[in-house]
Amino acid sequence: MSSASSETLLGWYQKEARALPWRDTTDPYKIWISEIMLQQTQVKTVLPRYLQWFEIFPDVHSLASANLDAVLKAWEGLGYYRRARFIHQSANIIVTQHYGHFPEEFDAIMALPGIGRSTAGAIASFSFSQSTPVLDGNVKRVLKRWYGNPDAPDKQLWVWAQKAIDTSNSPADWNQAMMELGASLCSPQNPDCSSCPMHQYCKAAFQIEQSSAVKKITVKNLHWRVDLHTSPERGIWLTQRPDSGIWAGLWTPPITELDQLPETPPCYIHILTHRRLHLYGHTSNHSPSGDGQWISDISQFALPTGIHRLLEKHEQT
Ligand code: SF4
Repeated sequence: MSSASSETLLGWYQKEARALPWRDTTDPYKIWISEIMLQQTQVKTVLPRYLQWFEIFPDVHSLASANLDAVLKAWEGLGYYRRARFIHQSANIIVTQHYGHFPEEFDAIMALPGIGRSTAGAIASFSFSQSTPVLDGNVKRVLKRWYGNPDAPDKQLWVWAQKAIDTSNSPADWNQAMMELGASLCSPQNPDCSSCPMHQYCKAAFQIEQSSAVKKITVKNLHWRVDLHTSPERGIWLTQRPDSGIWAGLWTPPITELDQLPETPPCYIHILTHRRLHLYGHTSNHSPSGDGQWISDISQFALPTGIHRLLEKHEQT
C-alpha cells in the first residue's frame, strides 16, 4: 500500500464511518469489552449490551470483584459464554498483576485470557495509538482481494497488514477503516466495487464471482428433551451446565439428548453456528433429582436465550 492509497481509505472512513460508542473513547477497559463482545456477535446485538455492561461493571475493579454467575448473567444473550469467563479471569489478572491498570505493552495485552493477536492489535491501536494491525475475518478478506490472492496464509496476511498500517499515520483510524470496509462494501458476497474507494488499488476489483464467495457451514441437528419441573411455591428446577460444551456454565432445566425423535414437533428450535437445537419441553410430574435447585426468580440467573424462548412458548400452550 502506498501513502496515497492509505489517505484514500482514511478519507473514505472519515466520511462514511458509523457512529459507534466504542469509537468515541480511548479507555482501554471500554475498548477491551467492546472488542470481546464484537468477536462473535453482531454490532446491532452488541450496542445495547455494551452500554448496559458499564452500568453493571463500571470499571475493572467492579468486574474483578463480581462472582462469575453475575458476569455470565450480564453476558446473557450475547452467546459464546466462554468470552465472559475470559473477561472475568482477565479482570482479576489486571487487578492483581497490573495494579488495576490495563497493560499497555502488546505482549502483556496478548497474555490476557481470550485475547489473540488481532484483538490485542485493536486494543493497542485504539487505546495507545500503537501501530498494531487488526486481522479479523473482514480484514483478511479485504487484504486477500487487494493482493489478488484468495489463498494467502495468515503469515502472509500479517505481513501485508503490518505494512499497510505502517504506511498510514493513524493506526487507530486505519484499523477502524479496514474493519469498516470489510463490514460494508467489501462483503463476502456481492462486494460493491463500484462504490469502493480502493478499487483502483485492488486486484480483485469487479472480479468476484458469487459462487466462489459462498462458504458452506455444516450444521448438526441435536434433539434435546427439556424436563420442566415447576411449582407455584418454589418456581422452576434448574441445573448448571458443565464448564465446557454448549451453554457452558449457564442454568437450564435438566436436558437429555434423545436418540429417537418424539412424534410431536419441538417446542422451539434454537440455531447456533454449527448446531441446530431442537428443544422438546416436557412437563414432568416427578420430583427432580440430582444436582440443581429450585429458583423462583430466573431473572437473577444466566439462562441461554434458547431456554428463555422455550419457556415463553411453553407458557403460551
Ligand atoms: S474493490 Fe471490491 S473487492 Fe476490492 S476492496 Fe473494494 S469492494 Fe473489496
